[in-house]
Amino acid sequence: MKNTSYRQIRHRLLISALAFGLVLGLASGPAAGAAAKAKIAKEKQLVLDWLGKPETVEKFGKISDAIWASAELGLQEFESSKLLADTLEAAGFTVERGLAGMPTCFVASYGSGKPVIGLLGEFDALPMLSQKGRVPKKDPVVEGAPGHGCGHNAMCTAAAAAAIAVKEAMVTYGIKGTIKVFGSPAEEIVASRPYMIRAGLFEGVDAVIDNHSSSGFGTDYGVGGNALFSTIFTFKGKTAHSAGAPWVGRSALDAVEIMDVATNFLREHLPISQRMHYVILEGGEAPNVVPDKASVWYYVRSTDQGLEDMYRRVVDCAKAGALAAGVELASARVISAIHQRHANKAAAELIQKNIELVGMPAWDDEEQAFAKALQKELGIEQKGMPKDVEKLEAPSGMFVGGGSSDVGDVTLIAPTATIGFPGSVPGAIGHHWSNVACFYGSTAWKGLNAGAKAIAASVVDLLTKPEELGKLRKEFEEYSKIHPYKPFLPSDATPPNDLTKELMDKYRAAIAKALAVR
Ligand SMILES: [Zn+2]
Repeated sequence: MKNTSYRQIRHRLLISALAFGLVLGLASGPAAGAAAKAKIAKEKQLVLDWLGKPETVEKFGKISDAIWASAELGLQEFESSKLLADTLEAAGFTVERGLAGMPTCFVASYGSGKPVIGLLGEFDALPMLSQKGRVPKKDPVVEGAPGHGCGHNAMCTAAAAAAIAVKEAMVTYGIKGTIKVFGSPAEEIVASRPYMIRAGLFEGVDAVIDNHSSSGFGTDYGVGGNALFSTIFTFKGKTAHSAGAPWVGRSALDAVEIMDVATNFLREHLPISQRMHYVILEGGEAPNVVPDKASVWYYVRSTDQGLEDMYRRVVDCAKAGALAAGVELASARVISAIHQRHANKAAAELIQKNIELVGMPAWDDEEQAFAKALQKELGIEQKGMPKDVEKLEAPSGMFVGGGSSDVGDVTLIAPTATIGFPGSVPGAIGHHWSNVACFYGSTAWKGLNAGAKAIAASVVDLLTKPEELGKLRKEFEEYSKIHPYKPFLPSDATPPNDLTKELMDKYRAAIAKALAVR
């Protein structure tokens, strides 16, 4: 008889474990199997089993799909926020709603005393991205309407599923401590977390596990993303007949245009990690009336160290625009201001072990076919869905800038790391119709379920192993000495509850009608 290697035996065990899991209708691989079971603590096994039940997968899959379908913009997520808060309340959580001055912000808590573990959860959509789910070519549900181009529909849903699973384990095994789900509106306009921190919602939280949709399944640590000022500059001038007596008028739009020219020259003299972009919100209503009001919305992004100086120079460009056009810079309304992410290494290491335990979901033939069709449409290699979870890698050390998340501020007030969970097709583009197409239906259901398992397993570790939580806290407390939290958000800034209202109101009825037809 030929010798069978350990690797072959292990491989066969994993295959049979996977097959066993699939027979039960479980969403992801090795953790569900008997092979892995022996080494897993009973508390952790309970959360994995609870989340692996087909009815759990379906329940939270349907919640994710409902949030995807209503596609509500930041701070207009009334239906999405209510669905999540109601789900947590029905599961026995105490839910406080309308917090930190934002109607759609909520905190759901279960348990009492220390340790307090927080989960972050987002649920807002992006403008202009409406797209049919699992259709691998551009095909909007409602032309021009918002869509979930960043998978946020699955994110607070994953956090809620994980929290309820942990609650089940707390009840069964008498685990002490508190779990809190931070229902965080408006991440796409980075507008909730600094206000939530300012309102004291995170006080007493010992560690935070964040999550974000992805095509891969992994986590990271270190400094990432850009800090950001989001500000609307408004100028006031004087109307006049544009042809009859233009010398009487002073164009507010001129000020916007001169400001934009000035900031575009400014780019040349900024570090390469900066990003700066704008849209003109108001620029007059007809060419034959000199516009007396104009406004422009800027995102000004840099490192924590470089942000305030860059922002000051952008404000100077606004003042220069006003001076040159002979109008008034009426306001510079800061919508939000946030830090870079400073993710905790010990948290990432703990999360990584649980990601490896859960494993990448097994994708079926239809899911692979959809992935390849979408990759073909995008003109990229047709390699389908990923097979393996990602490895935890050290930060590259070369920061060249990029996007931002208001999770950044949370990372500076409690040890935090983010679980990236799968569901999107590799190569699908963020903030684009292709990503909207991915985060509906089966791949989203499986991906968020795998994410929820990794979140819940990590929370169980933090609640039941003080030495693990101690590692996160020690690293965080040392880091806080060199990088204490000082908010960029001005003390007089208020949540922009009105910012996307008009746009959402424009599409809400059409979206509801499209849903009713389906
Ligand atoms: Zn996002």
